[in-house]
Amino acid sequence: MSLQIFGLAVSRGVAIGRAVLVASSRVDVAHYFIEPEKVESELARLHAAREVVVKEFENLKRDLPPDAPAELPALLDVHLMLTQDEALVEAARTWVVDRHYNAEWALSAQLEVLARHFDEMEDPYLRERKHDLEQVVERLLRALIPGEQQGVTAAPSAVKPRDFGGEDPLVLVASDISPADMLQFKRSVFTGFVTDVGGKTSHTAIVARSLDIPAVVGARQASSLIRQDDWVIIDGDAGLVIVDPSPIVLEEYRFRQRQSELERERLARLRHTPAVTLDGERIELLANIELPGDAAAALESGAQGVGLFRSEFLFMNRASGLPSEDEQFEAYRAVVESMGGLPVTIRTVDIGADKPLDRHGHDRHDAMINPALGLRAIRWSLSEPGMFRQQLRAILRASAFGRVRLLIPMLAHLSEIRSTFEAIGQARQQLLDAGQQLGQIEVGAMIEVPAASLMLPIFLRHFDFVSIGTNDLIQYTLAIDRADEAVAHLYDPWHPAVLRLVSDTIHFSRLAGKDVCVCGEMAGDTDFTELLLAMGLRSFSMHPTQIPSVKQRVLRADTRRLAAKLHEILAADNPQAASRTAFGAAAIAPALA
Ligand code: PEP
Ligand code: MG
Repeated sequence: MSLQIFGLAVSRGVAIGRAVLVASSRVDVAHYFIEPEKVESELARLHAAREVVVKEFENLKRDLPPDAPAELPALLDVHLMLTQDEALVEAARTWVVDRHYNAEWALSAQLEVLARHFDEMEDPYLRERKHDLEQVVERLLRALIPGEQQGVTAAPSAVKPRDFGGEDPLVLVASDISPADMLQFKRSVFTGFVTDVGGKTSHTAIVARSLDIPAVVGARQASSLIRQDDWVIIDGDAGLVIVDPSPIVLEEYRFRQRQSELERERLARLRHTPAVTLDGERIELLANIELPGDAAAALESGAQGVGLFRSEFLFMNRASGLPSEDEQFEAYRAVVESMGGLPVTIRTVDIGADKPLDRHGHDRHDAMINPALGLRAIRWSLSEPGMFRQQLRAILRASAFGRVRLLIPMLAHLSEIRSTFEAIGQARQQLLDAGQQLGQIEVGAMIEVPAASLMLPIFLRHFDFVSIGTNDLIQYTLAIDRADEAVAHLYDPWHPAVLRLVSDTIHFSRLAGKDVCVCGEMAGDTDFTELLLAMGLRSFSMHPTQIPSVKQRVLRADTRRLAAKLHEILAADNPQAASRTAFGAAAIAPALA
């Protein structure tokens, strides 16, 4: 029986595949396909892990102190029994043999199947045994992955199902996925994602967009309604998930999938076309990146530089400590050199809120009183001055290898501006004292808090450029947590207050002769291209995959005709409707062939 689940459309396109259910806590388990000839050795890993865990339990039982609580031996017996139960490791074999899943994935897939059975049990005692099963599987997983937990760098292999001829594509279904885990799927087997929680500009959604993989977030019950292996359609344009679709619906979506691939191929041909409007205005289209390896995609898309390098992804989910100055320097230099003379804007870490350093660590999202309003971004950096100077030194050193711009997130106070420049001065002096070569570097501020926009003249006196982070500007203007799907319907980039702040920031920055860019999601959303051009914006930074479609809009635009409509839209009760009317066919030239 087909089922429809509605969520938020966060990453466009259609994905069709079998569901792989993964509990949030196990998303960081490696998911990859093994070569057919490795099946036997993978099964051997699985069995060896079981032997290790059986031994662990037997030893624990043997070494129990005489005064141990009476329930403990019984509990260990239950765990021992579960470890040896055919329904677990033996059943997990099937995932390895039939599907070529790696051992860790096979185990977690089997756990999801069994957990569902436990959830459906009437007897509360038996239902509770699910937690025992989870603990046993954690032990088995640890036995398979000795030492540290898997991090971003230990991403799964890139072997795709089609490498084995005819295996089905897969979509991942989870209650939640952290941004760092999402990043891990860059080289993974999944062709789409569905999560129960999350907002349109939550960082998980942003990473999904950067991967250019269809995704729906905030689909509330998805992970409990969808079963392991169900066929699922993810409509990333409509925010719709269809479970177990009928053949007719499936055919319709397959057709749409082919159409959107053709459209992408057509747009890709614009790569070398300069982004110039009909009235001759040059528009800068820059890329947002998360990791050094993304520079290739930025160049591929025709980006004229990197407008936002979210450096915090270098800091997340690491097995051991923060990246050293040298490690950071190498990462920044790699991007600067890959971009071959094009500007690279490196933002200092924006840790905190929905981007915790470590999902198991002390700065856990849910451990803070109010993470979005707490110690994040520049506040976090200023509270860790040693770490901050270390990052600044790494960025300053990279400036000797190309055009580097330094960007500071979430400033709101003059005291923060002063402390930031003090730290930059100290970092520079330390490098000069050590005889290091430094290049010229421009320093910019993100405008992400209404306070920053309202005190823009002060910002413009201190900084060389500003970059508007609309994702946070919307969050803080409207008091809506961008990661919370319960209030996602109120997260409105068309809100007149938001548009006023964005428009004024662009206008007054230009008046002061300072560069201004928009690097929030609005910049890559073609619904806003004409409006931002009308506001006077000439520099947009977005996911590389969005560049071709924004460029297409730029090529069709006449900025003088657009600017003439600005006042009317900003004054409208419903700016979205007014924008549609004003920027319809009258203001934009006919489509290019
Ligand atoms: C923003 O807030 O718009 C932005 C670009 O920063 P981030 O999405 O990383 O918070
Ligand atoms: Mg931000």
